[in-house]
Amino acid sequence: MDANFQGLSLRHLPFPLVACLAALLAPPARAMDAAPLEVRALWVETGLVPPALRVAMIHAAASILSPARVVVRWRVGKADTVSGPEELRVVAIEQRGRGAGAGRILGATSNGPGSRTIWVNYPNVAWAAGTTVDALSSAGFHERRRAAIALGRVVAHEIVHALVPDLPHADVGVMSERLKDSLDRPLGLDPLTTEALLAANRRAREAGSIQAALALLPPAADPPPLVADSEPPSEGLP
Ligand SMILES: [Zn+2]
Repeated sequence: MDANFQGLSLRHLPFPLVACLAALLAPPARAMDAAPLEVRALWVETGLVPPALRVAMIHAAASILSPARVVVRWRVGKADTVSGPEELRVVAIEQRGRGAGAGRILGATSNGPGSRTIWVNYPNVAWAAGTTVDALSSAGFHERRRAAIALGRVVAHEIVHALVPDLPHADVGVMSERLKDSLDRPLGLDPLTTEALLAANRRAREAGSIQAALALLPPAADPPPLVADSEPPSEGLP
């Protein structure tokens, strides 16, 4: 099959130009060279998120984190499942409506001692995806996919906080303080966040584990929660 770039057949281009195009389209070499940082995470099953949606969310989060060489190994447990020392604990909670601020809280991370815990506010994430918890229990593919993308962005965002506690929010991309971008368009990590994750990967390798590397860092305050604007960041809802 011919490789095409915006309708242009690469077969008819001079080789140096093809090489330049390939270099521009390829991920940074340093990112590709790094062995992946394997992160273990426990999804605490509360019966809130349908299993098919959870699986799609895991894929959505993986597609965001994999360019920064972060691979999350998930297992599913119950509320009384004990997290391992290296494990992130990810809990979907049901807390409808707005928080104290102007936006709806979607997710938060505790960087305190012990297992790092991530909370995902499932009803508010469903709202941000233009739907509801009740509708998602029997939703079709399109609606479920949008919710999975929103959930994946929230989970990936909070995992970055847990891995790089001192990294501030970004102006663009998944690490923005607000979920403001359309769910109909791909959204990734900004370059500074990618660099910070690659650096965390190197520190984990030197320290023996990500938990050991995090223990060497000065204590960091919990990041502000991720919120959605007053209107869902959605377009073209069915
Ligand atoms: Zn955040």
